[in-house]
Amino acid sequence: MTQSTRVLVLNSGSSSVKYQLLDMRDSARLAVGLVERIGEETSRLVHTPLTGEGAGRRERTAPMADHAAALNAVAEELAADGLGLDSPELGAVGHRVVHGGLKFSEPTVITDEVMKEIERLVPVAPLHNPANITGIRTARALRPDLPQVAVFDTAFHTSMPEYAARYAIDTVTADAHRIRRYGFHGTSHAYVSRRTAALLGKDPSEVNVIVLHLGNGASASAVRGGRCVDTSMGLTPLEGLVMGTRSGDVDAAVTFHLMRVAGMSADEIDDLLNKKSGLVGLCGDNDMREIRRRIDEGDQRAQLAFDIYIHRLKKYIGAYYAVLGRVDAVAFTAGVGENAAPVREAAVAGLEELGLAVDADLNAVRSDEPRLISPEYACVAVAVVPTDEELEIAQQTYSLVNA
Ligand code: AMP
Repeated sequence: MTQSTRVLVLNSGSSSVKYQLLDMRDSARLAVGLVERIGEETSRLVHTPLTGEGAGRRERTAPMADHAAALNAVAEELAADGLGLDSPELGAVGHRVVHGGLKFSEPTVITDEVMKEIERLVPVAPLHNPANITGIRTARALRPDLPQVAVFDTAFHTSMPEYAARYAIDTVTADAHRIRRYGFHGTSHAYVSRRTAALLGKDPSEVNVIVLHLGNGASASAVRGGRCVDTSMGLTPLEGLVMGTRSGDVDAAVTFHLMRVAGMSADEIDDLLNKKSGLVGLCGDNDMREIRRRIDEGDQRAQLAFDIYIHRLKKYIGAYYAVLGRVDAVAFTAGVGENAAPVREAAVAGLEELGLAVDADLNAVRSDEPRLISPEYACVAVAVVPTDEELEIAQQTYSLVNA
């Protein structure tokens, strides 16, 4: 009998689908790809098989009216590589779902009941959950016989103690509207904290780690013995660190001040804080490479944006150091964390008294492998640990359906 060892991972956005097909016998990627601009005339599918004779990037541009059309196009590309979704080797589909609320602390096989619950969470994740739901519906229609698993961005953070998860606002109002700190990027924080423990040669239960997920979206988490005890994102992914286009922490009064004084609507302020703030709001660029280039040319606006970004990051390192009491490692991950040596250097500069330091030569090394960048004498390990959310989703999906 053919073993169903393949898992298809789908990350569905409002007008895009990212996908990876993995073989869980050795976690090998068989194909990766992306469909963009779904619903437009210029939809584009970029498909890269990573095994066999078909290896090599392929691209097709053709109108794809909806997620179903996009997924059918993906299925065709995979079939052309002998990796068709109708193959008995495909054992499950793992879906990234952004908001799982309080209910979903574990990966979950998707049933009609689970779908209803994910829909119930749309008011707290209006940008993300509807797209995830569309992706799930489409995949279920394509292969109704296959187990489909939801892996939630919020799940890893459900272990946060109540005093870290609650805002200090009226409890009745908060509970009526499910207002609390949920946290996001949980799949990445889970993977990176575990991988960091492995890098130290320890079991996750033995180590305390501060994970800094610095991509276009950015979040920090405090992980004690493998369990998240605090994280910087809150009700939505807006809170916390300075990000590419999001402000991170601001006084909530900024919102009603803008309503009263600038006559802005809730939607306009939402757009301002989520899409026109952060690095892009401060200096016009959200790509750290461009910001560093401008700083090298003496650009003061770029320098100030960088300094604000680092100042916030340092505050969270300090805060989570205090929350954890003892820190074994600080791990940098995601686009900026994995690639921007100046960010890593600046984030821990001056924290030697806390046992934190970065070795300039180790920090300059470029690699896809997890690695230490702290000097041997440092009490706290500083690490660069590339994140792999798709692998984590595939592993969680595979473990669940084979349990
Ligand atoms: P992510 O959201 O994890 O894909 O990260 C995307 C961000 O990573 C980009 O917006 C860039 O700011 C940053 N990034 C990617 N490569 C580099 C690099 N080589 N140096 C500095 N920043 C980078």
